[in-house]
Amino acid sequence: MDPMSTQTTNVQEFERARAAMPGGVNSPVRAFGSVGTTPRFFVSASGPRVTDVEGREYVDLVGSWGPAILGHAHPAVVKAVQDAAAHGLGFGASTPGETSLAELIEQRVVRPPVVERAKRDETRPIERVRLVSTGTEATMTAIRLARGATGRDLIVKFAGHYHGHSDGLLAEAGSGVATLAMPGSAGVPAPIAAQTLVIAYNDLDAVREVFAARGDDIAAIIVEAAPANMGIVPPAHGFNAAIAAIAHAHGALLILDEVLTGFRVGPAGWYGIDPVPFSPDLITFGKVVGGGLPLAALGGSASLMELLAPLGPVYQAGTLSGNPLAVAAGRATLDHLDAAAYARIDNAAAQIADAAASALSAEGVTHVVQRSGNLFSIQFAETAPHDYDTVKAQEAFRYPPFFRAMLEQGVSLPPSVFEAWFVSAAHDDEAVRQIIDALPAAARAAAEATAPTAS
Ligand SMILES: *Cc1c(COP(=O)(O)O)cnc(C)c1O
Repeated sequence: MDPMSTQTTNVQEFERARAAMPGGVNSPVRAFGSVGTTPRFFVSASGPRVTDVEGREYVDLVGSWGPAILGHAHPAVVKAVQDAAAHGLGFGASTPGETSLAELIEQRVVRPPVVERAKRDETRPIERVRLVSTGTEATMTAIRLARGATGRDLIVKFAGHYHGHSDGLLAEAGSGVATLAMPGSAGVPAPIAAQTLVIAYNDLDAVREVFAARGDDIAAIIVEAAPANMGIVPPAHGFNAAIAAIAHAHGALLILDEVLTGFRVGPAGWYGIDPVPFSPDLITFGKVVGGGLPLAALGGSASLMELLAPLGPVYQAGTLSGNPLAVAAGRATLDHLDAAAYARIDNAAAQIADAAASALSAEGVTHVVQRSGNLFSIQFAETAPHDYDTVKAQEAFRYPPFFRAMLEQGVSLPPSVFEAWFVSAAHDDEAVRQIIDALPAAARAAAEATAPTAS
């Protein structure tokens, strides 16, 4: 029994939570709405494992939705946070640590990626960084900045891409809304929604058409560097470079959203591993960059970033921005994400992805496993989905029984087929083995699933 575990059950905790919070949660996907079982209430986590209130341990493939890339409660990260806490929880004023984290981001995000100090002559898209507290704030600020820089209002986004929950970015926003089968969100004023033009992903003709029609009014394209919020849907070869070229030809900017992929798929994120080099104007980060605490960032050229207040006319601020505990967690995490750590993550991810594919094949389940670097997800489709429509057309009903079978065997997967699986550097041979051993029974459950009858 974990010393932190309580006398209650997951069912009791969920009941209590629902009486205190809408849906019993503080973020919708946690309610397990689409997987047909009770959410687990966790009390502790260490390395690749999490423990629930009943004292049950699971190998974890959610990883706090990405930040736990070194494994849960990594000793160096915990110590960095403890040391920072002992010196004060925050000052609402500048600290040297913030500058160090900004420098670290600027130095790492280069092509070719290097973990060591970057040389000045490498392609380096980030000269200035602003730290914020959530990915939602990072993309919201990037959009305000793009509008301020161009004097234009329209934003182009791709269906199925998630960029946080700000008003203008919720249209066809992938996993969260897809899981709940919602078209978007109530409460977004129509005039604001009208400023976002949503087009199909991986479709260059759609990008050309929208720019041919509205090019003079478009401030920016925002794109997930490698989409991971509708399951994994890799960009077509050269897609990011092509949309950058189209945007730039029309005087618009490219906002590369690396909140999920940044510092996860490699030391310089997707920017560092995309096979075709390209020039984003602004890049957003979150998740890994905060090491598990609330921290996110945006960066770009000095001339663009210095349009932000206090130097420029684009306002943005935050009471907790650059909080010293979050900065300490982010720095410690990035410091330990060396080539060896990425090699471990890549290797474990490949083993699990291969095993999932084999298990599903052995049971005759129609599926594809799509990968973007060390991120992957399974899709119950005959051919690889390439956009939101093809993602939604899969046999999603096969996932809940698959998910529950894994959970019963002590493996905690993302509670939606529209989410990526997050492997950490702490997923050792034993953890990987445990996942692989659980897959055949889960594949059988997926094979036996029946389509819901239309009502
Ligand atoms: C998670 C995510 C966000 C939003 O970040 P929050 O910290 O949850 O606000 C934005 N963009 C992408 C690509 C994400 O995966």
